[in-house]
Amino acid sequence: MFTRLLKYNVFNGSKSDLMNYIDKFSKVNIVSGNPEVLYNGLKDDALLKNFTNANTVIIPDGIGTLLASKIVGVPIRQRITGIEVMENIIKKCEEEGKAIYLLGAKQNVLDVCVTNLKKRYPPLNISGSHNGYFDLDDCESILTDIKSSAPYALFVAMGTPKQDIFISQNMNELPCSIYMGVGGSFDVFAGKVKRAPKWMIALGLEWLYRVIKEPSRIKRLISIPKFLLKVIAFNKKKSKFD
Ligand code: UDP
Repeated sequence: MFTRLLKYNVFNGSKSDLMNYIDKFSKVNIVSGNPEVLYNGLKDDALLKNFTNANTVIIPDGIGTLLASKIVGVPIRQRITGIEVMENIIKKCEEEGKAIYLLGAKQNVLDVCVTNLKKRYPPLNISGSHNGYFDLDDCESILTDIKSSAPYALFVAMGTPKQDIFISQNMNELPCSIYMGVGGSFDVFAGKVKRAPKWMIALGLEWLYRVIKEPSRIKRLISIPKFLLKVIAFNKKKSKFD
């Protein structure tokens, strides 16, 4: 059910397998494993420890991750995007009467996101929310708020690596069952950012759409070849010893 990519185990099942799999954990961090996130993990010991511990599930989000799985010879069949998993978790929470907490984005985006989610999933319990502009080393009041509202799922939308650092620093002391860094997803729910058209998503070109809409993102694409080169180098070394 996993493909080994460098130091990571990346989930290699279907979307429904994933939902059943994460259900088994009492506490789980779901990481959207695109090359940028996985490459950041290689550069930071604390993140690497968090991404590789037993309570983390890395999902194959990003065409670069699928390509890497082909390079190592254990191809991942299905790409699973973070925003789809987030929607599935929200639906589950709505059905089962479990609460969610939204942490991240600008205050005006967060407010519209909360309103839109309540419209879309009327019985959903959003037990709390806070914008994503605060000091990671000085956020006791936010931690207290999350603890007292005791959500089942905590979605953190502050971009990588800030959201990943927040989760790795705090998940042990928080009471939630699901932790998930969801990047720009609150902007999508707020209608500020549109997802790529379906045909572009199907062709694995969502990254291109986002760069066209927001050209400053182009710098971030550099982590794709950097990550792939590491995978190629690791694979070459490994096949020498096999
Ligand atoms: N953001 C935040 N705090 C910060 C920096 C960014 O809450 O200190 C938010 C920002 O407002 C936006 C999201 O993080 O809502 C940016 O996510 P990005 O598009 O980088 O994520 P991606 O989808 O590319 O992972």
